[in-house]
Amino acid sequence: MTAKRIDGKAAAQTIRDRVAALVPEFERTAGRPPGLATVLVGEDPASAVYVRSKNRATAEAGMVSFAHNLPTTISEDELLQLVIALNADERVDGILVQLPLPPQINATRVIETIDPGKDVDGFHPMNAGRLATGLPTLVPCTPFGCLYLLKQELGSLAGLEAVVVGRSNIVGKPMAQLLVGEHCTVTIAHSRSRDLPGLVRRADIVVAAVGRPQMVRGEWIKPGATVIDVGINRIPSDDGKGRLVGDVAYDEASEHAAAITPVPGGVGPMTIAMLMRNTLVAAHRRMGLADPEGL
Ligand code: NAP
Repeated sequence: MTAKRIDGKAAAQTIRDRVAALVPEFERTAGRPPGLATVLVGEDPASAVYVRSKNRATAEAGMVSFAHNLPTTISEDELLQLVIALNADERVDGILVQLPLPPQINATRVIETIDPGKDVDGFHPMNAGRLATGLPTLVPCTPFGCLYLLKQELGSLAGLEAVVVGRSNIVGKPMAQLLVGEHCTVTIAHSRSRDLPGLVRRADIVVAAVGRPQMVRGEWIKPGATVIDVGINRIPSDDGKGRLVGDVAYDEASEHAAAITPVPGGVGPMTIAMLMRNTLVAAHRRMGLADPEGL
């Protein structure tokens, strides 16, 4: 079996086009476009690339981006003051503080300071709690994107066995909550799990969010499973530039899976698309409007 390659780029473009199509209507009603504030602390090259892409996508959707680039030496208090100012800024519907933050700053404190209604990353404990209890919320962008791809591929997920490898607050845990919400039977695996290959072998759906290049081997994959690879890892390449691979050994896994996301071009583009979606939804909710349809 050679798996179908799930095209995250195309799915992401569909969502971004839909968001862009809905922005003018919001602007007419609200008298202003939706706004996203991004906060980048320091000069980590990967973070800078991510934030630039997010700002560009915001502008392409017809929304306004407010980019704050801060020196790596900034104090926690200064950053918290900026977040408090953005909470109060009426033009700002979404606030994204790019992680990781430098060691002098407590990321939890920063996330807890963001107004939950503007928390377009969905990391605030209130939004995490609302997700866990099945209430409307802002869902973390990466697992939300994974769920979109799974539903597009499989339709109903009810009754399927899902294994999520990784239990981070930003990917693994919310992914598991979303899959439970779709009536999957969910196992969350992590670094202390026993017999990881055996756990993965049971799964109709495998979501790998580990951060270890190609750790999930092809022979672990149940024939016909759907595999979502969240990992983004740079490994050495012959040309010396390095290349990106996921947490799943793609070629091997393709021999067993029915469908699989590539890296790059799978989950990555979905994260930005869902950020655009969350910003538009947050804008609607802040103005007391119903969530836009078809997103
Ligand atoms: P993280 O916070 O480092 O969490 C990694 C998880 O993997 C942890 O729960 C850890 O278990 C588990 N793990 C580590 N080694 C393992 C092993 N040998 N066996 C089983 N589980 C193991 O990472 P993250 O933030 O969730 O990110 C995961 C990956 O996704 C990274 O490659 C990251 O770059 C990528 N990512 C991509 C996007 C995107 O837009 N596509 C977004 C976010 C993250 P413990 O909890 O026991 O330590």
